[in-house]
Amino acid sequence: MKVGFIGLGNMGAPMAANLVAAGHQVTGFDLAAPCPEGVAKAPSAAEAARGAEVVITMLPNGAILRRVAEEIHPAMAPGAVHLDCSTVDVDSARAVAEAAQAAGLAAVDAPVSGGVGGAQGGTLTFMAGGPEAAFATVSPLFDVMGQKAVHCGGAGAGQAAKICNNMILGITMIGTCEAFALADKLGLDRQKMFDVVSTSSGYSWTMNAYCPAPGVGPTSPADNGYQPGFAAELMLKDLRLSQQAAEAADADTPLGQAATALYETFVESEDGKGMDFSAMLPRFEKRGRG
Ligand code: NAD
Repeated sequence: MKVGFIGLGNMGAPMAANLVAAGHQVTGFDLAAPCPEGVAKAPSAAEAARGAEVVITMLPNGAILRRVAEEIHPAMAPGAVHLDCSTVDVDSARAVAEAAQAAGLAAVDAPVSGGVGGAQGGTLTFMAGGPEAAFATVSPLFDVMGQKAVHCGGAGAGQAAKICNNMILGITMIGTCEAFALADKLGLDRQKMFDVVSTSSGYSWTMNAYCPAPGVGPTSPADNGYQPGFAAELMLKDLRLSQQAAEAADADTPLGQAATALYETFVESEDGKGMDFSAMLPRFEKRGRG
């Protein structure tokens, strides 16, 4: 397939490289990052998009996505698909889909989970929103870049699924960390805590697969000095998107709100920036109730 790829950062570069390795013809553009080997370098986003059957964007936020969409839609061939894999707000995803439709194009929002490791290994999970036919067009690309793609519904449904999942993840990580910190103060051994909770009703992905206590459970960023992994500031980004969406939709999300506030403090006023999001455990460990 002829693919345009805009945004070749930590995630985009390995995704584009995997498409090249699978035999797709990829033309790329990034304001700063270099093109990975095998990706033809275009002089602008519009040139990367021109003549492509699918144009993938992998950008930092909704405002940048909207600007890039304005630039590329006029250059895209009628019937081509704009596949946005960035994590952005639901409103931006829907606005870009409307703009695409008005320009005679189709749009799919398909944020990912799996991080840089998943992007490199081609094992990402895609959560997609958009028309059935456009989802079918981009499915062979999902098969190369990921191991699973779920069609969640119409425009914005992929972003909605992503932020709901990550709101659960942030809340659950905080719950798991505060329970470990309480267990410490009660004199309960961390390994015993893991043995019980991981096989009881408190089990979760954060306890069982990504345990925030070093030396306990499967290997996780806690065993590597809390180097990310999934950085606390990326969790904060997703939690903020969840609260932006909750406000727009008038949804009551008190724990999502509390988790956002905690990660905000951790990243902006404490030492959380650059740490894995599970470093909430050493944060709680140091604190008392006051
Ligand atoms: P990144 O900052 O490494 O890459 C973004 C790239 O976009 C940069 O290279 C930047 O130069 C480029 N860019 C910015 N504005 C541009 C423009 N106008 N035209 C062309 N290029 C432009 O970020 P990343 O880690 O690759 O993340 C990309 C997206 O994926 C984000 O939305 C992020 O939330 C999401 N995401 C990241 C992870 C992760 O673990 N890194 C996991 C899941 C989802």
